Amino acid sequence: MVKRDYYEILGIDKNASKSEIKKAYRKLALKYHPDKNPDKNAEEKFKEISEAYAVLYDDEKRKMYNMYGHAGIDQRYSAEDIFRGADFGDIFRGMGFDFGFDDIFERFFGHHMGFERRPRTRRGSDLRYDIEISLEDAYRGIETEINVPRTEICNVCNGSGAKPGTDTKTCPQCNGTGQMRASRRTAFGMFTQVSTCSKCNGQGTIIEELCTTCRGRGAVQKTRKIEIKIPRGVDEGAQLRLAGQGEQPGKGVKSGDLYIVVHVKDHHKFKRRGADFYQKIDVSFTDAALGEKIDVETLDGTEKLRIPEGSESGEIFKLNNKGMPRLNRRGFGDMYVEVHVKTPKKLSRAARKILEELKRELKNNNRKY
Ligand SMILES: [Zn+2]
Ligand SMILES: [Zn+2]
Repeated sequence: MVKRDYYEILGIDKNASKSEIKKAYRKLALKYHPDKNPDKNAEEKFKEISEAYAVLYDDEKRKMYNMYGHAGIDQRYSAEDIFRGADFGDIFRGMGFDFGFDDIFERFFGHHMGFERRPRTRRGSDLRYDIEISLEDAYRGIETEINVPRTEICNVCNGSGAKPGTDTKTCPQCNGTGQMRASRRTAFGMFTQVSTCSKCNGQGTIIEELCTTCRGRGAVQKTRKIEIKIPRGVDEGAQLRLAGQGEQPGKGVKSGDLYIVVHVKDHHKFKRRGADFYQKIDVSFTDAALGEKIDVETLDGTEKLRIPEGSESGEIFKLNNKGMPRLNRRGFGDMYVEVHVKTPKKLSRAARKILEELKRELKNNNRKY
């Protein structure tokens, strides 16, 4: 296949300015873009104009092309080099195609080239630790220590994986680049495929003698004591994030985070609803009838609750601010107390006498209760 002249392909003059080149390419790309043009030859044509644009828009490549023609380009640049200088993303975004450099390559060659993409910031995994605490602990907040098994950098080799005192040498397979390049000639020009070096796993270096502690991994499993502070007022399922306390599987790797998931055990007496507590207490029928100040248990000690005379079973009274501290806010919830009037099961002789008298008294007044 004989390559056509780049200027001819774009239909421009030898002295065309950069903006003219861009304009010409945009016009043709719109016409031959495979998404818009179903013709089989459109993709081939699209490649052709893209290559012409990539060369002519780049001052250095244009100069080489002007001096030596296609030979000046093909012998000097791989297909990836040709495309590297051109900002296709910028052009296509303006045309409503939202794709860039990688997409061009994927379209032309069927895969990504693996360059021009920044290496992803590697990050260790997050860890989760479930802790169960009592309602009392949740009420006051606690500081405690937990043991977390996690991956950490080996402190013997400092993460290098090499036995201290031994050398690491440059990987002979990739000459330290960590990448393998395989070039082949295609109709479109030199085409270079980049892959991770299999010998050094992309590290670029090879360890002569492995660190005996981590066996070359550079990281070890350690159980680490970590102090945690659980704030007062936490509820079931609350999550605390300890930044950077997760896994750190290697040198230069950002540590993951540690998430503490709090479980609050059920209390034998209080039921919790948000910041409020509920409890049931028994009161004697005389206290219920006459009214009384009774002792009520709270998480803050014993409180006096005034039961008015004539209180009934199932009535609910409230002790203000005797509930849970509100998480990250001021103030407390309330304590709701449901009273249960107990009927005496066994009466002393004297008590029975009094009650019978009370019964007569109520009857004489024509009252049932
Ligand atoms: Zn080590
Ligand atoms: Zn290598």
